[in-house]
Amino acid sequence: TPKVSKRILIMMSNTGGGHKASADAIKAAFQEKYGDDYDVLIEDIWKDHTPAPFNRVPDTYSFMVRHAFLWWFSYVVMQPRWVHSPYLRLVHSLVSKRLNTAFNELRPDLVVSVHPLMQHVPIRVMKSRIRSGLSQPINFATVVTDFTTCHNTWFHPEATRCFVPTEYCKQLAVQNGLKEPQIVLHGLPIRPIFSKPLPTKKMMKKALGLNTSLPAILLVGGGEGMGKLEDTVDQIAEKLGSSCQVVVVCGRNKRLLQRLSEKRYTSGMPVTATGFIDNIHEYMHASDAIITKAGPGTIAEALISGLPILLNGNVPCQEEGNIPYVVENGVGAFETRPPKIANILASWLSPLEREEFVLKAERSKALGRPEAVYKIVQDLATLAHVPDFQWGTAKAAVEAGRVPQPTI
Ligand code: UDP
Repeated sequence: TPKVSKRILIMMSNTGGGHKASADAIKAAFQEKYGDDYDVLIEDIWKDHTPAPFNRVPDTYSFMVRHAFLWWFSYVVMQPRWVHSPYLRLVHSLVSKRLNTAFNELRPDLVVSVHPLMQHVPIRVMKSRIRSGLSQPINFATVVTDFTTCHNTWFHPEATRCFVPTEYCKQLAVQNGLKEPQIVLHGLPIRPIFSKPLPTKKMMKKALGLNTSLPAILLVGGGEGMGKLEDTVDQIAEKLGSSCQVVVVCGRNKRLLQRLSEKRYTSGMPVTATGFIDNIHEYMHASDAIITKAGPGTIAEALISGLPILLNGNVPCQEEGNIPYVVENGVGAFETRPPKIANILASWLSPLEREEFVLKAERSKALGRPEAVYKIVQDLATLAHVPDFQWGTAKAAVEAGRVPQPTI
């Protein structure tokens, strides 16, 4: 059996697809760079390691975001530290026993959180374990998976490291009491598959069975296939006719997939509908623009793929800041009404705006950070080897060869 040198516990929760995607990205990059040197475990802490009612957090989230006001209300109420700090202390007192059992079973050498509600409680549990001799001192790292507007509970001054995706997030970390050396800006961790070379756009279109001579618009409704997808396709078909094709990713929305697959558009616009796909990187590469809600993961992936981005909606609060990020960086637009969405697309694809459209794609590519996941993983690898991390000791450990270097 291969020797496992260090175990890394990634704490996520399936609230939206993004946290899981980030955890998977980190795990895949560890595997690629270090093989079996690290044993990376991904655990849904709320669902699998806390008692009721906390184990229903993921279900509650999906209910709340569908009822925007409820979500907005709890998000805003929890922002100030004087509210969330005592609240999470109370939660700690109710879940710490189960969490302690989880730590005893999993025995991590480094804990990584990719979730806004997994700082205060786990850090408190870890500290008490270290104090009572149940655990060696180990490091705790937060990898922020929101792009811009982040809830304050992401930031805990006692986290060893906090990896942020944007300068804006970095400022939020500072405002929440983190010190400069604790905060590291690499970008959002995106699955390594997005940074691998692919054939030309035309060849990719052919490989996916798309029309090779028409621009392709990728319409993504998130993992759940939400939003006014069908209406949007209808409007695009009406306004753009056979001058483009649309690929609709319906996610887990089976009814929508069925309806779109059966529909024929009189304008002759080719429409390809798919369910949840694992090769979304290939579809992005084959496409010429994307329409999506303002999810951080999808935006970061679209940037790596060099796509102009038309945002058609957002989860209240944490995705709001992603809209100005896209618009002000000149890589896209925001519009929720399907007829207007079709108008914007028509202008993007018109010969008059061709130059600006190409520029949008170039700016998008330039903003993408495909290397972020590797940089984060390299830093995490170091953190797993150096208990009670300080810059000096980490550097010494690397120089003394105590920290394995990436093998590839
Ligand atoms: N996704 C996918 N296949 C699909 C639909 C979505 O792999 O068919 C992925 C998408 O690439 C992204 C994630 O699901 O990585 C969605 O994350 P995002 O942060 O955009 O939104 P969330 O679902 O977290 O609100």
